[in-house]
Amino acid sequence: MRRVYFDHNATTPIHREVAAFARKFLDQYFGNPSSLHWAGREVRPHVDEAREQVAALIKAKPEEIVFTSGGTEGDNQALKGVARARAAEGNHIVTTKVEHPGVLNTCAYLETQGLSVTYLNVDRNGMIDPDEVRRAIRKETILISVMQANNETGTLLPIKEIGAIAREAGVLFHSDMVQGLGKVDIDVNDLNVDLGAFSGHKAYAPKGVGALYIRQGVEVDNLIHGGQQEMGRRAGTENIIGIAAFGKACEIAVSEMAEEAARIEFLRRRLLDGLMMDVGNLHFNGETERRLPNTLNLSFEFVESESLLIGLDIAGIAVSSGSACSSGSTEPSHVLLAMGIEPLLCQSAIRISLGRANTEDDIEYALEVIPRVVGRLREMSPFYEGGKRP
Ligand code: PLP
Repeated sequence: MRRVYFDHNATTPIHREVAAFARKFLDQYFGNPSSLHWAGREVRPHVDEAREQVAALIKAKPEEIVFTSGGTEGDNQALKGVARARAAEGNHIVTTKVEHPGVLNTCAYLETQGLSVTYLNVDRNGMIDPDEVRRAIRKETILISVMQANNETGTLLPIKEIGAIAREAGVLFHSDMVQGLGKVDIDVNDLNVDLGAFSGHKAYAPKGVGALYIRQGVEVDNLIHGGQQEMGRRAGTENIIGIAAFGKACEIAVSEMAEEAARIEFLRRRLLDGLMMDVGNLHFNGETERRLPNTLNLSFEFVESESLLIGLDIAGIAVSSGSACSSGSTEPSHVLLAMGIEPLLCQSAIRISLGRANTEDDIEYALEVIPRVVGRLREMSPFYEGGKRP
């Protein structure tokens, strides 16, 4: 059966060159990078090189990169680390209602520890007004956390403007930048971020590795205590396979991102235009211009997203529904609900996220399959009155 992978925001396949490079650390280089002998010495430069490669992709200094286990750990480290380090200065955090659970649930935990959190609303396109962030700042505010790109809709939030507001107010600014890495240009200085969380497996590296950008001079308490790895900021023997692979993936992204993003954007537009032509009662969720090149969030009225997901899966097409990162969830998406999208439309939303694996043939196949599956499901719906188009 033909297989088409349209769920790159959930995870990406490992880039072939990345896998080939990482294999050396399974087969050959096994040393502990902290060891002084030959086995350690042959591994250590690869950790340093990876740090430089990640830094180069986001225009940071290598010493501002701390390797983590992924995006969730980066978010936890940033939020809990600032909450503890700045406890004497205040106890208030500003964030949005559309963040990933890595931020939202960490904020919920911090609330149980006596912090107070403001969750800002977004508009119908998932966009936030920077002035609302400004208005939410209080004298006890210590941190603002706003994601760069929403994982469900692809909307790009105005983090540069928010970062400038934070800086002017003397408040630290963290951004969950997991979905932007390798898809859009990132310059942490231009974007005014103090902390930024990244994840390897969203960018063609393996799962279980990520990075937290910590601007030079920014103090955060450690999340994990132990040895002196990662410049004393993240204890535990380094995940050398993941780190080397993540570095390599970032190096490849530096040279290929512009061309890939344009190619993927073209495919996404072709898919959207084709679906708009062939499927009636179709709603586009998210910002039309300020967005990731690869992501589409669409509500197919009169269709349950879970049924659509299964119908497409049977035809070999992998998409996601609901709160896509926690697959299996049947709860309506907190992101779409926060955007004010009617619950019924939330329940008929699917996310299609394209990536390196996709070709024009995949798009043509999807344009053949999706209208057919939607049409069949609508025929079974007691609410669908029928129309000329599926
Ligand atoms: N932040 C965002 C925006 C995400 O999409 C994800 C994906 O799951 C994460 C954080 C979590 O990253 P990880 O799976 O590396 O913990």
